[in-house]
Amino acid sequence: MNETSSALLGPAEIRDLAGRLGVRPTKTLGQNFLHDGGTVRKIVRIAGLQPGERVVEVGPGLGSLTLGLVEAGASVVAIEIDPVLAGQITDTVKARFPDADFEVVLSDALDVTALPGEPPTALVANLPYNVAVPVLLTMLQRFDSLERVLVMVQAEVADRVAAVPGSKIYGIPSVKAAWYASARRAGTIGRNVFWPAPNVDSALVYLERREPPSTSAPRERVFAVIDAAFAQRRKTLRAALSGLFGSGAAAETALRAAGVDPSARGETLVVEQFARIAEQLDQRAEGAE
Ligand code: SAM
Repeated sequence: MNETSSALLGPAEIRDLAGRLGVRPTKTLGQNFLHDGGTVRKIVRIAGLQPGERVVEVGPGLGSLTLGLVEAGASVVAIEIDPVLAGQITDTVKARFPDADFEVVLSDALDVTALPGEPPTALVANLPYNVAVPVLLTMLQRFDSLERVLVMVQAEVADRVAAVPGSKIYGIPSVKAAWYASARRAGTIGRNVFWPAPNVDSALVYLERREPPSTSAPRERVFAVIDAAFAQRRKTLRAALSGLFGSGAAAETALRAAGVDPSARGETLVVEQFARIAEQLDQRAEGAE
């Protein structure tokens, strides 16, 4: 073992492991495997894990990032949808780190409602690109023990998640992520550190949990307002929310009561303003009972 290969997986190990398992990476499952130890260590460094910290990883794949997490002393629970990969990962980890605190759950991450062991305080993952946003939001919703998240996603998605009001790319992922956490871009990752190389750029997003907006409206109702506001981006909020409130006039009344200009567009509002609007929906629903 030379110094750069160490216990992590380089191109030769990735090729060898995939060959032995008969793995042919699929686009449907967003299978692009990291084969660069430097990138793995960079991700682990940015994640800033405490020794012994419980980490959940979604999509460990062949184990590239998992090994970096274990090397840093994390206790890892991984969720993998692919049975062949899930079946191999424990051997891969234990062969290099026999004392590792590691377990794997074979499942679609979107179906996981409980995890074995201590509740995780961090999510660190190279997410499958086609389900990155739903996985990110679902994990934040279901596991309120998560204090920090560092995920690698398509660069464009990273920008959307971290976008601020008023920018063209501010939308549903930005506002919903802001419900749970503050988000920022945390670095760019080149294409040639993956096998196979994806045809899009990748980036890291770092999210830090914060209190959700203080509101009497349930989260689901706030999210319904966000969905409606961005379903037709170019429309004013009065028009975009007319379906939800029953009419344009009712939407206008609700928006004014929430202190929001009815001629504004969703892309200018912070999450707290969506909560104020949802409170009006709440009162409307109660008033109708
Ligand atoms: N972590 C590995 C790495 O960095 O090399 C693999 C990352 S690869 C981009 C995404 C991984 O997520 C694949 O292993 C894929 O099988 C898995 N995956 C795809 N969809 C999933 C889902 N819905 N739930 C759990 N794992 C999923």
